[in-house]
Parts: sequence; C-alpha cells; structure tokens
Amino acid sequence: MTKLPTVPGYLRPGQPQGGRTPLALLVPCRPCGVWHRHGAGTMDGPYYKPGDLTHRVAHCPRPVDSYEWVRVQAEPFDPRWMRNRRRAFSVITEAYPWPA
Ligand SMILES: [Zn+2]
Repeated sequence: MTKLPTVPGYLRPGQPQGGRTPLALLVPCRPCGVWHRHGAGTMDGPYYKPGDLTHRVAHCPRPVDSYEWVRVQAEPFDPRWMRNRRRAFSVITEAYPWPA
C-alpha cells in the first residue's frame, strides 16, 4: 500500500444560512488540480482548530487517492488561490504556494 501524503487544509467561511455561517475545509489536490471541500462545522461550532490533524477521504473523481491526512492551517484561505470554471470547479491557480 502506498503511503498517502499529509496535505494542508484551509478553513473558509461560506454563505450564512439561517443565522449560521458554515465552515469549509479546503484541501489542494495535486492529481485533480482543484480544491476539494470538506465540511468543517460552523463559525460558532468549528470541527477544527489550526494545527489539528484530521483524517479525510479525498473527493477524487478518479480511482486515485491523493491524500488521507489533512493538517489544518492557521493561515486563512486566499481567494486568489481559486478560480471557478464552468466545467472544472474550484481550480487551483498559480498563485497558490505549494508546500515542499
Ligand atoms: Zn482529488
């Protein structure tokens, strides 16, 4: 079995709904070239804090698992790291500094 890498994850507030603001954990997926989105609770009740290590299953649409463990970052998500395209949602842009 191949050991899957630990990747960074960034918390990002979503659109407020019914008085609650959902939080997403955005994870950069190299094989897919997009941000995968995982649920992370709400602003009032976040599942994670910076520094946490969480086990998440990658949402890859092909039979490749690109990550297994996500390290929650203190750094906020920068919108310049994402570009939305009609057929390729949430593309990772050149502005994203990939960790070594
Ligand atoms: Zn993927």
